[in-house]
Amino acid sequence: MAKKTSARKCSFCGAEENYSTIMFEGENGVLICATCVERGHVIIGEETITRKKSGFKIKKEQILRPAQIKSVLDEYIIGQEDAKKYLCVAVYNHYKRLIHNDAMASSKNKSEDIEIDKSNVMLVGDTGTGKTLLARTIARLLHIPFTIVDATALTQAGYVGEDVENILTRLLQAANYDVELAERGIIFIDEVDKIARKGDNPSITRDVSGEGVQQALLKILEGAVVNVPPEGGRKHPDQKYVQVNTKDILFICGGAFDGVKRKIAQRLNTNAIGFGKRDERQEIDMDNLLQYITPQDIKSFGLIPELVGRIPVLTYLEPLNKAALLRILTEPKNAITKQYVKLFEYDNMKLTFTPESLEYIVDKAIEFGLGARGLRSICEAIMINAMFDINESDKELEITLEYAKVNFEKNKKILKASSKN
Ligand code: ADP
Repeated sequence: MAKKTSARKCSFCGAEENYSTIMFEGENGVLICATCVERGHVIIGEETITRKKSGFKIKKEQILRPAQIKSVLDEYIIGQEDAKKYLCVAVYNHYKRLIHNDAMASSKNKSEDIEIDKSNVMLVGDTGTGKTLLARTIARLLHIPFTIVDATALTQAGYVGEDVENILTRLLQAANYDVELAERGIIFIDEVDKIARKGDNPSITRDVSGEGVQQALLKILEGAVVNVPPEGGRKHPDQKYVQVNTKDILFICGGAFDGVKRKIAQRLNTNAIGFGKRDERQEIDMDNLLQYITPQDIKSFGLIPELVGRIPVLTYLEPLNKAALLRILTEPKNAITKQYVKLFEYDNMKLTFTPESLEYIVDKAIEFGLGARGLRSICEAIMINAMFDINESDKELEITLEYAKVNFEKNKKILKASSKN
């Protein structure tokens, strides 16, 4: 029987194995003794702390320029040039501001330096035009914590719903509870229009999910030290709070602002008449009224002026027409049709779509009023039988107009069920 010999040595420190050492054996006979493992553990602990500390300091070389950020957005999002441009600049400036603040903090002559204010962003666009997609895509590129929260659930403190501070809990979680890191993050607040004031006179009825929430949000946007419940949920006297300073957190808000187009149209028409320029009205692009949006329109929709003032960058998303929907179906890096092709590749099948079938899918999305969001459900209805009946011996499948029609008609109940959600 082979006995362990003292020839076995730790590959790191060279210590020989004896009755009191524990050796761990790796592939190809590599050994590491328990002492080296312990030393490694200490080094990893120290290194993690140092890296975390230096990780807060963003280096200029690390940050992507707006055009570089945009080229990544272009891979995933069709059109929306204006929104992309503003968002890329906002993120770029946010990084520059953080670098500037770090430099200022270490400089002796603080009084001479200029303080750069942050520029929170408001994205206005119909539902399903890509607001959340923009935010999610940009999040992939960031080296700072990022979170998406929904304003619909927020209510004034003390009422059923979520306290506004909870949006910071989410950022804390994204930063792995590292407060310093969270204090430099970005929060995307979706559906911000849902906290608009209901009705013109707020004093008549209590508006717990409207103005009260806006006031609470304002405090956070302005930059304040906020007591954040680390686990989320209701404020509770026994709960330990984490203090988060929101001064350097960038906020991106998104909303559909249903009905704001009417206000824009009214304003534009009145102006056109008011200034006596008859031609001006013809120049107004009625299909894309959001491009004319101003902070005033947001205010008249029901956001309080102080809040609007704290979100100085206002941009819009274009409505998606048939051509844009066709591009969305086929062009982005993870376009829906590309995803089905990949799925079929796993069964060694070549899947193709004829141009007529693609047009049919888009027409149905428009007909059902589902926009880009409906494209997947329609495709799912068309593809479900093919995916169920997939056969080893089949090598090709072409989705023709006829195939799309027949299968969509058969399975469109899926669509009705999903569109209710
Ligand atoms: P919003 O937040 O504006 O309501 P989303 O970003 O959630 O809309 O869009 C819903 C889905 O529609 C996205 O996941 C994406 O598949 C598709 N989509 C919408 N707009 C675009 C676009 N401009 N480019 C590519 N895909 C889009």
